[in-house]
Amino acid sequence: MTYEAKVGDGMNTKFPYTDMNLPQAIQRLPELAYNVWFSWNQDALELFAQIDRERWDQILHNPVRLLVETDPAVWESLSRDDRFLQRYEHVLKQWDHYRSEPTWFEKTYPEQLAYRIAYFSAEFGFHESLPIYSGGLGILAGDHCKSASDLGIPLTGIGLLYKKGYFNQKINTAGSQQAEDVVYDFTKLPLLPVLTDQGERLAVQVNLGDRIVTLHIWQVLVGRNSVYLLDADIEGNSPWDRELTGQLYGGNQDIRIAQEVLLGVGGVKALRALNLPTAVYHINEGHAAFQAIERIREQLENGVPFHVAVEIIRASSVFTTHTPVPAGHDAFPIPMVEYYFSTLFSRWKEHKQAWMKLGLEDSKPLFNMTHLALNTAALRNGVSKLHGQVSREMFRSFHGNIDEREVPIGHITNGVHLATWLAPELKELYDRFLPGNWQANQTNADLWRSIELIPSESLWEIHRQLKERLIRYARANLREQRRRNDLPADKVEEVRGFLSADALTIGFARRFATYKRANLIFNDLQRLDRLVNDPQRPVQFLFAGKAHPADHPGQEMIREIYRVSQMDRFRGKIVLLENYDMNLARYLVQGVDVWLNNPRRPYEASGTSGQKAALNGVINFSILDGWWEEGYDGSNGWSIDGSQEADWQMQEKENTESIYRKLEQEIVPLYYNQGKLPHQWAARMKRSIRTLAPVYNTDRMVMDYTNQTYIPTLKRILSLIADDYDAVTKVADFKQFVYANWHFVRILEVNDGANGKPSPPKITDARQPSKEVTATIRFGPIWYRDTAVELVYYEERPDGWHPVVVAMEPLKELGDRVVQYRAVIPSHLQHRAHFSVRVHPVSANFASSFELPLVTSL
Ligand SMILES: *Cc1c(COP(=O)(O)O)cnc(C)c1O
Repeated sequence: MTYEAKVGDGMNTKFPYTDMNLPQAIQRLPELAYNVWFSWNQDALELFAQIDRERWDQILHNPVRLLVETDPAVWESLSRDDRFLQRYEHVLKQWDHYRSEPTWFEKTYPEQLAYRIAYFSAEFGFHESLPIYSGGLGILAGDHCKSASDLGIPLTGIGLLYKKGYFNQKINTAGSQQAEDVVYDFTKLPLLPVLTDQGERLAVQVNLGDRIVTLHIWQVLVGRNSVYLLDADIEGNSPWDRELTGQLYGGNQDIRIAQEVLLGVGGVKALRALNLPTAVYHINEGHAAFQAIERIREQLENGVPFHVAVEIIRASSVFTTHTPVPAGHDAFPIPMVEYYFSTLFSRWKEHKQAWMKLGLEDSKPLFNMTHLALNTAALRNGVSKLHGQVSREMFRSFHGNIDEREVPIGHITNGVHLATWLAPELKELYDRFLPGNWQANQTNADLWRSIELIPSESLWEIHRQLKERLIRYARANLREQRRRNDLPADKVEEVRGFLSADALTIGFARRFATYKRANLIFNDLQRLDRLVNDPQRPVQFLFAGKAHPADHPGQEMIREIYRVSQMDRFRGKIVLLENYDMNLARYLVQGVDVWLNNPRRPYEASGTSGQKAALNGVINFSILDGWWEEGYDGSNGWSIDGSQEADWQMQEKENTESIYRKLEQEIVPLYYNQGKLPHQWAARMKRSIRTLAPVYNTDRMVMDYTNQTYIPTLKRILSLIADDYDAVTKVADFKQFVYANWHFVRILEVNDGANGKPSPPKITDARQPSKEVTATIRFGPIWYRDTAVELVYYEERPDGWHPVVVAMEPLKELGDRVVQYRAVIPSHLQHRAHFSVRVHPVSANFASSFELPLVTSL
């Protein structure tokens, strides 16, 4: 067996099993099997299915296993099978074309090809055959990498390789989730071991407390790019350490922090060992925030002072936060962090406090990964418009309690990878009616208008096929559940009659975290009964999802859904499918009529499953939370209403009422109003596709990341470190100086013409009389030009009160470092009652106006 994966772009790769003597005619099959590009090319998937359809399904569509385990005689016969060869050639042609065509990035940023963006994530969901994801965060990371490849963005993924993946979910006859451990054989997954030039396993070493853990590196080829995964399960590591990459989100806090050290510190070391020129570090959620600690250490080793090192790391890091609840952020006891970094802290004793300070919480003795990430990444974002706002509110105190809207955390709304999630039958239909280059230009909303040209009959017919396919798959899933649970034969066979393609079908599938309130619809079983069992207009529900093995309330939800599904009146009409994964997700988001999502607002940072559904003409029915808050336009789906300020119980009551009412009065009637072909329903499907598909895809999302974060970060860091770190040293020194001297800054007086010393009224606009305001400020050692002096008042607009920030101009220097400023504002505004004056430090080299949490106001 030859193992040889070359470092770098991942294209000059030899494959482990090239000595398996595939016939000449199909010798490039491993190239396809070892690049998860297959997961978004329907012809490639079909090619592998054609090898052995039944086995393909049994082994969860894993082309590498198929390759390794198929009898040589089969390859011989396939190499003479014209139909197979034709498809093989066709797939290779697409593959070669894919890699050679000029990309969006090359065309848009031709001068920025020298450096790579490292993308860190604790999980990646590329395909069901590579089970290193638990839910939305991982799928998002997978979709991000896929679009980065499609767009030609030089991005390298960094993650961990879990020996047992997440877990397989089985449901027993009590409705309890059984978490089944599967131990994966890495040589049979779409992964390549990374080797050194001498042919040995490339390894990196990470200090964990007083011991050293060695990690091997595996490579996942993702189209044009690579994702590198770290593996601690190797000889030489202690048994406890070998388990560290055992399970995704498995174990206690000790394991969790150790995993995060491996990801953050080990990830940076892997980039160095791979010799990848990396300039931008994007961390997907706080799990990987320790990357900053390792990169600061590297700078120290090079003789860079600590405060300059922090500045370099900040300037080159991008942080995406995903958790809208404070309790959801990882935070570790301080002694734990001190233990895990003890080697580092004993080497650099003098910086230990400063290091720890980067992650300290304000009020509790905890080291918070989100705080670390915020302190060490200049650009930060939430994952939907609403989540951006929630994050800014949550981290206001971090930024000197400025107005929420000024907190330097933006948002880039999530999306989904179109080619991964769109049903192939629909893709063919879109191919017929949309302009030829629609997929490459999927972010162009104009082009999606042609969806309206699709005859409702054609759309409906395909939708119907997809629904039938889902129902067949769901029955097989239920039959397997019952067979395994030793139910009598008649109970196993009973599922043949479950579900109907004629009934309005509602899907609910996601992780069973309690805030997602999967059981909300069961609040009034009588009312649900009337909907489900309406003889003319029946409704049926499919549920699926895993609960984290430590989440007992989540598992109780599963039991509740199961209990309801077993009631006579709901049997075969409300079903609970087991082992939700990307495979089942595809069936569901392509096959139901309505996608239901009813989280407790604003806990759903974005949500992406509804976006997958929307692409496929499945209509969203959701709380106005996460992405749906901005995606819903009143006619491309339905909202679930309820007051947003009320307490949780009240919200729940109102949301439940809204769900039933809309189902009864709008959704069911629309679906059933025109017999077999519901024209109005199809019209709404089209509206949903055409308004949502161009926006909520990862091409748009990754372009946003590139334009708004990667390229600005790349330019900024390169200019900061040019000339032997000249600019970054100045910024760091400046910050240090400002921190030390800010307490001297004092606003001595504000004169708004109403406090005894009238300033002359100034009329600049007859309709809005205005006046001059002055502020007198003592700066101490800080140069006044290094600050911004602003007057802030609030203005009422149709959507609420907005801050208006008026820059004040220096009027005269009064000596002794005291400067008087002026501004002109509407004359009715009075100091304290209506406006305040504030001073904060600024610099052209800052990434944002509130880079430092220093604001003095009066
Ligand atoms: C898309 C997806 C998710 C995320 O679903 P949300 O509704 O956004 O939480 C979780 N699990 C799987 C398998 C998915 O495909």
